[in-house]
Amino acid sequence: MENTSKLNEWISDLEWMLKANRIIAVGECGLDNSGRKWDEEKQINFLEKQVVIAVKRDLPLVIHYRGDERTAEMCLNTLARLLPKHFKLNRHCFNGDEVIYRKWKCHFQTENSAFHLSS
Ligand SMILES: [Zn+2]
Repeated sequence: MENTSKLNEWISDLEWMLKANRIIAVGECGLDNSGRKWDEEKQINFLEKQVVIAVKRDLPLVIHYRGDERTAEMCLNTLARLLPKHFKLNRHCFNGDEVIYRKWKCHFQTENSAFHLSS
């Protein structure tokens, strides 16, 4: 219950901040199971809400994920389920392999998505 109310508070804060005229993107958002305690359900729930807001406002998404291949799959599946193929994405801090890269490129149109590499 406490987690749900905190999540709703964060989403309300995000929507309030996005009312400013100079906002050009929503992010970073995504999934991260590196290091810290990983609450998969909570992170996916929050990502879904951020995606809905970005689509509603037609703002590009800056996507972050860090973790194993399963995390990458969950992130991609969530985005593929909720975003139109033409939606603008910045795949920030990408450190996946070629297979993962091709899966992302298969789901989203090349001209509207950017990949920034990380080591
Ligand atoms: Zn990041």
